[in-house]
Amino acid sequence: MNQLTESEIVLMRKAGALTRDALNYAQTLIKPGISTLELDNLIKKFIINSGGSPSFLGYEGFPGSICASVNEMVVHGIPSNKIILKEGDIISVDVGVIYKGYNGDAARTFPVGKISPEKARLIEVTKQCFFEGIAHLQAGKRLGQVSHAIQKYAESHGYSVVRELVGHGIGKQMHMSPNIPNYGKETDGPIVPENVCLAIEPMINMGRKEIAMLEDGWGIVTRDHKPSAHYENTVLVTKNGVEILTL
Ligand code: MG
Repeated sequence: MNQLTESEIVLMRKAGALTRDALNYAQTLIKPGISTLELDNLIKKFIINSGGSPSFLGYEGFPGSICASVNEMVVHGIPSNKIILKEGDIISVDVGVIYKGYNGDAARTFPVGKISPEKARLIEVTKQCFFEGIAHLQAGKRLGQVSHAIQKYAESHGYSVVRELVGHGIGKQMHMSPNIPNYGKETDGPIVPENVCLAIEPMINMGRKEIAMLEDGWGIVTRDHKPSAHYENTVLVTKNGVEILTL
């Protein structure tokens, strides 16, 4: 795990703040009638105007600046002018921002207009999974405690945890070691050192855990077509505790 210096931590905080701002801006745009491509264009401009650059754009060939994943799409939705948001949808927006070589990464699932109580509960429980997880995140403790807490909370609400997609270390690159599954045993994973940044990102399905990839090679959907939600923050672990950089 990559331990950061004080000056690197300053840059991570800034990258995190820009990522948070982009997501807050995204929230103001989401309404019935807007396409996910329009969202992408507006958020891309916002990131560039705020002094960052969108890390997803061109990442392994990804064509967008955000991932826009509607309803049964778990993650990695390619923004499209054919995908128009409608009342009752939920949309997961994942954003990454690079600032002076350092990365922020965060995601939220937003309601589009009025949504069903079932979808609202999925969004709320997925968000709470993150907080249950980081309650167990501490330098000197095993990372598996975080993973275990997320799984326990999700499953206790009747939901399932995606296995194939995981959180990650973050810093000079968006995806660094270690992998941070949203499931597992408390005794799994490495001991967390001080001064590391991690992206903790529960991806929680209303139905079964199985997923499939779309023909575009990016979009990940639930196999049972039931909705999925995503909640992610970049966090910093120091000897003083956990600081959420993208909230
Ligand atoms: Mg991530």
